[in-house]
Amino acid sequence: QIQGWQVTSRFAGAVVAYPQDADDIDLLVHRARATLDRAVLQKASALTYLAEEEETRHRQLKIIASFEAALSEDQFHLCFQPKITVQDGGVAEAEVLLRWIHPELGFIPPDEFILLAERSGNMQRITAWVLAQTVQQAAAWAAHGFNIKLAVNISAHDLMSLSLPAQILQLLKEHGATGEMFTIEVTESAVLEDEKRAIEALVRLKRMGITLSIDDFGTGFSSLAQLKNLPVDELKIDKAFVLELDQSPDDLQIVRSTIDLGHNLGLRIVAEGVENQRSFELLRKYGCDKAQGYHFAKPLPALEFEQWCTSFNSMNNATVESGQLKKHG
Ligand code: C2E
Ligand code: CA
Ligand code: CA
Repeated sequence: QIQGWQVTSRFAGAVVAYPQDADDIDLLVHRARATLDRAVLQKASALTYLAEEEETRHRQLKIIASFEAALSEDQFHLCFQPKITVQDGGVAEAEVLLRWIHPELGFIPPDEFILLAERSGNMQRITAWVLAQTVQQAAAWAAHGFNIKLAVNISAHDLMSLSLPAQILQLLKEHGATGEMFTIEVTESAVLEDEKRAIEALVRLKRMGITLSIDDFGTGFSSLAQLKNLPVDELKIDKAFVLELDQSPDDLQIVRSTIDLGHNLGLRIVAEGVENQRSFELLRKYGCDKAQGYHFAKPLPALEFEQWCTSFNSMNNATVESGQLKKHG
């Protein structure tokens, strides 16, 4: 009690060892402070200094400091992974996935750097780069008769930025493209963060003809009521429920009910993480609309993706034709 006020205090401690952790007193105190900061953040009563964590922080700082160069020196590139139409087995669409080969650190997984880009305020510029490249690629492909819809991932922060729809509209104009050539994938959690604002942004994008897809569906906690309010076209079931679909009765039950639920709400269903034929058959059996996964193709650079599509489609047409021949014969 201080002057009649109730003050709650909490203890946090840090443990560093001399000389194992540092044999220089300034460095030792610095490491103790950093460890203490983490203990306070994590609400832990005490933490011990760990060299690996220091390494992780170093790596993170290096990644954050490299975004500028990554953009100006063309270190990023896009990969494309097909979404297969379950009914006819054709390639309807492709998801655009960002790749970064860092000159020093090598390949950095997008799950790792995108989080850091968001936290350090670099995501907006990266998204602008991805969007520009995507629209340009779709237009270039369309110009030589390769028409494929491209699905871009948009993070929560980008969705809330009021300039996003105008930015996309500008790109469409610049490249003579239309909204119908694109899908935008946003995560469930992005939408839940600020539902009202998200709906506003989604409505504007939808008016431009863009297809809207809820990504990682099933990992967040959106209620049915919330889902009903969203102007979306498609639910993308997270790969966590699909990877072992052929072995897990629980996953199968979840996927089946999600397909039914989505269809009852008038939504199309996409399953990501399809790794084998048996899972694909199950998805077909339960009426899933599109499937994506290593079973068909890994994300591929533009040229390889285009070649893959050509050979996949000719194989698929041959299968369909021989099937029809059999039927008529
Ligand atoms: P996501 O949007 O859920 O993308 C699907 C991820 O699943 C991709 O990982 C893809 O390569 C992987 N995947 C696809 N099929 C299979 C499969 O059969 N088995 C397995 N085990 N994995 C499969 P990736 O490319 O590493 O991307 C990870 C995440 O990074 C993405 O998850 C997305 O959230 C984010 N991301 C990637 N590119 C972008 C981007 O341009 N913008 C934003 N905001 N996020 C991006
Ligand atoms: Ca996605
Ligand atoms: Ca996912």
